[in-house]
Amino acid sequence: MFKAGVYYLPMKIYKTAVISTFSILLIAAIWLGLPPEESYIPAYALASKVVVIDPGHGGCDPGASRGAYVEKDITLAISQHLARQLSEAGAMVVMLRTEDRDLVGDGFSGTVAARKREDLKLRAQRANEVKADLYISIHTNADPSPRWYGAQVFYDASSKPSKLTAVMIQEEITKQLGNTKRKAAPGDYYILRNTQMPAVIVEVGFISNPQEASLLADNDYQVKMAQAIFAGIAQAQVRTYDTEIELYPNW
Ligand SMILES: [Zn+2]
Repeated sequence: MFKAGVYYLPMKIYKTAVISTFSILLIAAIWLGLPPEESYIPAYALASKVVVIDPGHGGCDPGASRGAYVEKDITLAISQHLARQLSEAGAMVVMLRTEDRDLVGDGFSGTVAARKREDLKLRAQRANEVKADLYISIHTNADPSPRWYGAQVFYDASSKPSKLTAVMIQEEITKQLGNTKRKAAPGDYYILRNTQMPAVIVEVGFISNPQEASLLADNDYQVKMAQAIFAGIAQAQVRTYDTEIELYPNW
């Protein structure tokens, strides 16, 4: 027979043991466990794909700005993170610029608008020359009102693979960053019309929104944004254009 008091110490130890074991198992499960299915990234699908990354603007064309935040710097930083992730997954990455300049040479003597047109022409031309499998253009959005926010991806309505890529990237950004309700949308842009491969423009957020602008300038946020874009690109490689994508955003 056990005395009642005998139980107290073992019960206490028992409880501690149960809690400890549970905690250890939980930590082990998190540490060892495979990610849940929805966060699985088929990065292998990117091996040997030629991906052109277009960090929007550069040099004498700063893009949009708000105070100290300048679009050309944000687009380059996110592009560099994305380039590293794609390269690690085995993709052949072509960066259209790796420093603060545009693609037009020093000898150009036209107007600012003409230089901008020439720059865009050269970007599309470069992607077509290298016969890229995918074109990812990174920009920030801007609006006269500071209230608008949220990343949004644009594609050429006539290209199904572009829509598929845009939808996958949009959904990953929505899921991973949790701060946009926007949907991927068709857009009529020079770069989308003049590239001969699936192409999207990722507007990573509104530089005209103070909160979003400071996020966009933050290195950790830039890494997360690049990760979400990377995951979307990878998902698009293994996903077929089905009725769901066809009906998007009404799915
Ligand atoms: Zn831009």
